[in-house]
Amino acid sequence: MDYKNKKKTLNNKLIISLVSVILLVVVSIGVTINIVLENTFADYITKNNRKEINSLITSLEEEYKNNQWNIYNIKEIGKVSIDKGRIIELYDNKENLVWGAREYDNKMCHQTMDGIKNNMKNMNPKWDGEYSVEKYNLTNEYGDYIGYVNVGSYGAFYYMDEEVDFLNHINKLIVIIAIITIVITIIIAILISNNISKPIEKVSEMTKLIGEGGYTNKIEYNSNIKEIDTLINSINDLESKLEEQEKLRKRLTTDVSHELRTPLTSIQTHLEAILDGIWEPTNDRLSSINEEVIRLTSLVNQLKDLAKFDSDESKLNLTQVNLGQLIQNIIYNNQGKALEKNIEIKSSLEEIESNLDKEKISQLVVNLLSNAIRYTNEGGYIYLRSYKKDDAIKIHVEDNGVGIPDESLKYIFERFYRVDESRSKKTGGIGVGLTISKSIVNLHRGSIEVTSKVGEGTEFIVTIPVIDLKDI
Ligand code: ADP
Repeated sequence: MDYKNKKKTLNNKLIISLVSVILLVVVSIGVTINIVLENTFADYITKNNRKEINSLITSLEEEYKNNQWNIYNIKEIGKVSIDKGRIIELYDNKENLVWGAREYDNKMCHQTMDGIKNNMKNMNPKWDGEYSVEKYNLTNEYGDYIGYVNVGSYGAFYYMDEEVDFLNHINKLIVIIAIITIVITIIIAILISNNISKPIEKVSEMTKLIGEGGYTNKIEYNSNIKEIDTLINSINDLESKLEEQEKLRKRLTTDVSHELRTPLTSIQTHLEAILDGIWEPTNDRLSSINEEVIRLTSLVNQLKDLAKFDSDESKLNLTQVNLGQLIQNIIYNNQGKALEKNIEIKSSLEEIESNLDKEKISQLVVNLLSNAIRYTNEGGYIYLRSYKKDDAIKIHVEDNGVGIPDESLKYIFERFYRVDESRSKKTGGIGVGLTISKSIVNLHRGSIEVTSKVGEGTEFIVTIPVIDLKDI
């Protein structure tokens, strides 16, 4: 059997669960009310019977005056008693029958008692109430024995027609309330489950689409459930990231092939010209070829670095480093490039001795500084600072260059991301410098932030905690 086919949809499952729970609750409440009501009612009837018999006895005793029974009134009392399911026989103190219900109207007595029997059997088919006769002695106001009365009935507890009607009415009401509750619950269950399952269905459709490579459709659904809203937002975020990554991946293929092809073609044509004897292998020509080879090597090295950081091979090689001096040396080495663009490099470097990976921290500062030089126009300035604050080392690289647009800021650390491709191509970058820089900072358990304004400049701030990095 196909297991999948047996799976229920979330919608059905929610509806079935909610309705089952409510059904269970409603049925249990209904049954409990019914049982409690019947018990309480039976209790009430029993007590009432007792009271009525007492009042019957008192009424009969009152009908004996001056050694005489008031037969007319006794007949009225006897008739009312038949109506209430009691067959009475009144005897005087000499055992003579004064008034008997059966003698008065045997048919009526039978009818009433059969009615009660039917009522009780209908209410409870297992009812086995037996007709029984109780004898009560009667006394006058002085306490003298004046006779007795036999009261025949179906025990202390039985239902008359009105009581059966009352109970049936209440039971009907309970059933109606239960049906209304169940109908309302089913409607609410459908609404709730739709509310929960619709967005989840949407999300699952979208994730299927994402799985098939469609990253452009966003889930446009406003749920009033916080968790589902968060889920939708996360999927949309994920989609944007995947879309961006997909774009970067496609661009990488074009970029890498383009970046490699251009210097290779140039080297090839130059070498062919030399080999064919068209060109003299002069120093200038050979150094131009050499420059292209250097460019290629740098490109391949950057790609190699990136691959290394990707493959988790990177480990920190910690030594005691004087950070101020390290940055100062990097400034000296880059001064030439800055001077070419008439850029002034200012610095304020504290003497900080710390346990760092010297090579990687150098690479980080070189990346940030060369970016600052690349993306700052002629005559600009760059300001480098390093200091210690709250158990952390801070490195600031600030420039008054072209700046980075707001919408690009969140992507600049992504691999192969370049704000302006044509500008970056001119500047020679391939969009991995900041990715590598971020990996280096992460390896040191630190963080890197950037603030920038187009046309005003950019500032990168690196924070590296002074912790025992030996275990990393
Ligand atoms: P690239 O090799 O292209 O410079 P990076 O990863 O180093 O790649 O930088 C990513 C992008 O961030 C760059 O293409 C550039 O647009 C932008 N960027 C980096 N540093 C700066 C800066 N100091 N000023 C302006 N833009 C910058």
